[in-house]
Amino acid sequence: MAKNIDLSYGFSTRSVHVGNSIDKETGAIRRPITMANSYALPYDPSGVNWSEAGTKLYTRNGGANQEYLQEKLAALSETEDAVVLATGVAALHSIFFTFLKSGDHVVVSNITYIAVYRLLNEYLPEKYNITSTLVDSSDLGAVREAIRPNTKLIHIETPGNPTLSISNIRAIAQLAHEHGALLSVDNTFASPYNQRPTKLGADLVVESLTKYINGHGDAMGGAVLGSLERIDRIRKEAMINVGGAISPFNAWLIMRGAITLKLRMKQHNNNALLIAGFLESHPKVRFVSFPGLPSHPQHEVAKAQMSNGYGGVMAFGLKGDTETHNRFVSYLNVITSAVSLGHDESLIVFLGPNDERQYLYPEVFREGFLRFSVGLEDAEDLIEDLRQALDKI
Ligand SMILES: *Cc1c(COP(=O)(O)O)cnc(C)c1O
Repeated sequence: MAKNIDLSYGFSTRSVHVGNSIDKETGAIRRPITMANSYALPYDPSGVNWSEAGTKLYTRNGGANQEYLQEKLAALSETEDAVVLATGVAALHSIFFTFLKSGDHVVVSNITYIAVYRLLNEYLPEKYNITSTLVDSSDLGAVREAIRPNTKLIHIETPGNPTLSISNIRAIAQLAHEHGALLSVDNTFASPYNQRPTKLGADLVVESLTKYINGHGDAMGGAVLGSLERIDRIRKEAMINVGGAISPFNAWLIMRGAITLKLRMKQHNNNALLIAGFLESHPKVRFVSFPGLPSHPQHEVAKAQMSNGYGGVMAFGLKGDTETHNRFVSYLNVITSAVSLGHDESLIVFLGPNDERQYLYPEVFREGFLRFSVGLEDAEDLIEDLRQALDKI
């Protein structure tokens, strides 16, 4: 029996309990991992719709562990429903695939995850005649001007990867709805603990579960959150018939990780705020971009729409060239040079001046910069690691 935990309970109570229940067969107080591709059919299967999501049939149509995770994510995000998929990119693609068709237009943040840039800027226009306009979505006027009569979707990422630009969700939702378009928000950098975009008017929310929600760097997944009707459409059109289903094992791992989301986010939020302050005051640091710093150009917007903190990711540049940045990274002892973010351990990646999207970034980023995902280690140890590496360059 599942406990009756609704939205009147706090975030951590929902994180711990929603999606779990006592296992009927064994009495275990944890639901098991169901590693099965198929589920038993009724006596007469001739009435079964093989493209249906509701009934348990085949794991690509929905499986036990996927459903438990969906329940938890919807409860944490305060949305009616959620669909989980194999990766964050599969989740992003599922929105474009389900809600756009030939002739439609999209307004999209110029700062987004690279696959969004690739899909909306290259593949969808070339293959399917779905066009898009890249805009600096921190500028409301630019978003308004980019909207056309055939704009069906505005897609933003806030905070944006990798520059940490912030877009005003409430104001953009209003613009989208005035023009009959949907607003989707990639919420990966914030996580549902720091930001709940549907409460600000967004229609669809994407989370890369690979990052904070799993939080332990050992499983990939993605989710789209929104109304029952829209999520059901995504399940039918983009999960069952395109096929980016998540494995039951990864769904189970992510569900386990999500139990501690609030505890972890508090530590990420606190560590990052301390470290951004340390870096900003260091004479060898050229700039720091972190929405929690008053120097961030959209700090006030971030303060208004992010509820508990600003997450653990920041961007910063050193006074020096590519070689200076690479040497700095090589001197780090606790912090690991690797892509991804939102893991338990701190990760740093140098994004050099030859990045093909550098032209879209504000001026200070164009010489190259570091994207730093502050982990769960003790802040003093991370600051000491940065300090000794800065001393050596
Ligand atoms: C990592 C990331 C994604 C993609 O997620 P995957 O799980 O790696 O496919 C999407 N959006 C943002 C903002 C990300 O950081």
